[in-house]
Amino acid sequence: MSGTQVLKGHCHCGAVQFDVVLLNGFNNIRRCSCSLCETRGAVVVSAVKEQLTVTAGQEALTLYQFNTRVAKHYFCKHCGIYTHHQRRSNPEKISINVACLAGVSPFDFPEVPVLNGREHPRDADTPSGKGKVLGHLRFIETKE
Ligand SMILES: [Zn+2]
Repeated sequence: MSGTQVLKGHCHCGAVQFDVVLLNGFNNIRRCSCSLCETRGAVVVSAVKEQLTVTAGQEALTLYQFNTRVAKHYFCKHCGIYTHHQRRSNPEKISINVACLAGVSPFDFPEVPVLNGREHPRDADTPSGKGKVLGHLRFIETKE
């Protein structure tokens, strides 16, 4: 999957539809250990903010913010599914929920790195946590 390929995505109910070009394909697929990511359980990839176009359902997107309220976490108000968020570490970049991308499943990736999101790079007292891989989540297919 090349870096210029336009991928289509949608929430579970389909109210929210979007087109996106990923920043680095699926090379930086990840989960994150921050309190929100841990709770929602989403696997994400990166894009530059301008590379996301919401093609339908802009009015269905609801914003959730917490803690420093810098990051903007969007989800569909009908089905509750998280589609993407604008990052706190770099507001020019967004993270996209891999499970929302058409034809792509988080289970297509057998090993997903879990990044240290508890020690956020923007928190002055935690300068060392940026991008640190804490471990990997594995998907192991059961053959019966
Ligand atoms: Zn929805």
